[in-house]
Amino acid sequence: MSDAKSYRLFINGMWRAARDGTTLPVINPATEEVFASVCSASTADLDEALAAAEQSRRAWSSRPAKERGKILRAAAKILDANAGAAARDLSAEQGKTIAEATGEYKRAVETLEWNGAHAEELSASIPMGPNRMVVPEPLGVVAAFTPWNYPAVLIARKLAPALAAGCPVILKGAEETPSVAVHTVEALQQAGLPAGVVNLVFGVPAQISERLLSSPIVKVLTFTGSTAVGKQLAKLAANNLQRCILELGGHSPVVICEDADLEKAIPAITEYKFECAGQSCNAPSRILVARPVYEEFLSRLTEAARNIKIGPPDDPATEMGPMANARRIEAMQRLTRDAVDRGARVETGGERLDRPGFYWPPTILSGVPKDAKVLHEEPFGPILTVAPFDTIEEMMEEANATEYGLAAYIFSGTDSAKRELINGLAAGAVSVNYLKGVSADAPYGGVKQSGYGYEGGEPGFRSFQSSKLVNGLGSFGSDQ
Ligand code: NAD
Repeated sequence: MSDAKSYRLFINGMWRAARDGTTLPVINPATEEVFASVCSASTADLDEALAAAEQSRRAWSSRPAKERGKILRAAAKILDANAGAAARDLSAEQGKTIAEATGEYKRAVETLEWNGAHAEELSASIPMGPNRMVVPEPLGVVAAFTPWNYPAVLIARKLAPALAAGCPVILKGAEETPSVAVHTVEALQQAGLPAGVVNLVFGVPAQISERLLSSPIVKVLTFTGSTAVGKQLAKLAANNLQRCILELGGHSPVVICEDADLEKAIPAITEYKFECAGQSCNAPSRILVARPVYEEFLSRLTEAARNIKIGPPDDPATEMGPMANARRIEAMQRLTRDAVDRGARVETGGERLDRPGFYWPPTILSGVPKDAKVLHEEPFGPILTVAPFDTIEEMMEEANATEYGLAAYIFSGTDSAKRELINGLAAGAVSVNYLKGVSADAPYGGVKQSGYGYEGGEPGFRSFQSSKLVNGLGSFGSDQ
């Protein structure tokens, strides 16, 4: 078992410190104090993780898929039973409220359960007429890089399908939020996962990715994070032609049509946008409003944002906690200052709160000029821009004007408007009168520079398989 405040590596079935003894601090974003540490893997540790994963590969991939699924489902139960304590750890490290952390753990549990339940079905051969079939085969060792914003659910979305498909994993947890990875791996260990099938490392991200991806042992790279880092990793993966699943940034538009039900739209937008202090790749970030309802929408949204209760994440009255780290505060300051310098108006928020902790209030910007950085760079924080539109063509051009294509949202009561917008918006997912997080059973992936490949559902599972085509079954003799 790992020490609650000094998170260790898990290599070849053993919890242990780094070979060279290096650790990194873990900071509480609500107080800015160091309150835990995490072991930082050396090259020797990474090489041991690679060897352990490769050694476990044959036995794990040839274990019946039903049994692999059983281990995942047992781990889901263990994680669920421990979710209360685990959510408190996550909240303290990440800054999200306990309610948000609990909800996130529930989705992680559902993801382990869904992939466990579908392991057998999605590993089965697929007949193609009397003479041919497709045999799904596990691709081999996976290097999985997970971020700090939704660490529980994003770890589960990588680990669960990879393991269920028969692939060993080297998981790099987020150094800012190590407890989640430790709780998840402990649950898998207790559920009976053999040594070497999951290896957990933390450390200096660039050193870890360079070492792991330079090894021909690794066959799949799965990463969630920024577009810039995703591109660096794809370049590293090109040397060994490792399959890449890249879940990158987003800058999601919300279209408010003239007939939108504002009574429903405004609470839905504020609740989803300001969850996790806006640090979500598919959070809405640019709102485009039909001119006739623009003034009313802007004043009601501003009022709703102003009323959000900000505070320590462990206070049950808190609706939005601090941002996860100082880098995000610097980004909020930079983007707001740039927009204001170019003529934007701050309707509410716009300045760091004067107290310890990385607190940035819900911020609404209007009149933002098209060349402002906040309209092009993923804000990844509690900033929303609001602008009016006069024609559908103008709105569509604006909605699709960024390099990203992850999510888009529409509020309208008219079927023809919904259809036109669904077809015209360049995004991996379009949601109509609805804002919710990703689910275990549905594929989710970006277009344009938001990445490629899928997580979730059957496509997410198949990301870790090859499809071996077997021809000429009719030529087999009687022992077939
Ligand atoms: P960052 O770009 O330095 O890091 C993003 C993530 O990638 C982190 O988890 C980090 O540990 C990891 N990372 C960084 N360099 C790496 C490398 N060379 N090899 C492997 N992993 C590496 O920025 P940050 O300040 O940590 O996060 C903020 C930015 O990251 C935001 O602008 C946002 O776009 C993006 N981000 C996106 C998601 C998402 O859900 N898509 C999650 C977290 C961060």
